[in-house]
Amino acid sequence: MRVGLGVDVHAFAAPEDGRKLILGGVEIPSDRGLLGHSDADVLAHAVTDALLGAAGLEDIGHYFPDTDPTWRDADSIELLREARRVVGGAWEVANVDAVVVCERPKIRDHREAMRENLAGALGVGFSQVGVRGTTSERLGFAGRGEGIAAQAVCLLQEK
Ligand code: MG
Repeated sequence: MRVGLGVDVHAFAAPEDGRKLILGGVEIPSDRGLLGHSDADVLAHAVTDALLGAAGLEDIGHYFPDTDPTWRDADSIELLREARRVVGGAWEVANVDAVVVCERPKIRDHREAMRENLAGALGVGFSQVGVRGTTSERLGFAGRGEGIAAQAVCLLQEK
């Protein structure tokens, strides 16, 4: 077995930038989205890095550099699907668990759909992917509503 950890942070864009807020592949009603080269799906990015880390591979920026126009506005669930392909068939995903840190929006109402999307990209069952939200008690950048952080762990099992 191998465990991997992924951490990611994205800043909120200004409302007039018209960015969508995408978390775990779910478009969440919000007056502003996150800044990023791709769709800025901070949750999908943390899960992708956890997966790559568990497999002992390079990080997400190595496979999907933000200097490459190919990944501009990319659907990060598709990046996760591609990362799963890179990890290869010698490893099975045992489980993933992830936490999103933000004051708003509330993750609770969307977590089932996020789990479905992440599990689908990883080719595992719904029950193998956990997603929770937490606030940072109004402390720090997440608490001030300047951005969203996500952390994830991924456990791989050798086939
Ligand atoms: Mg990112």
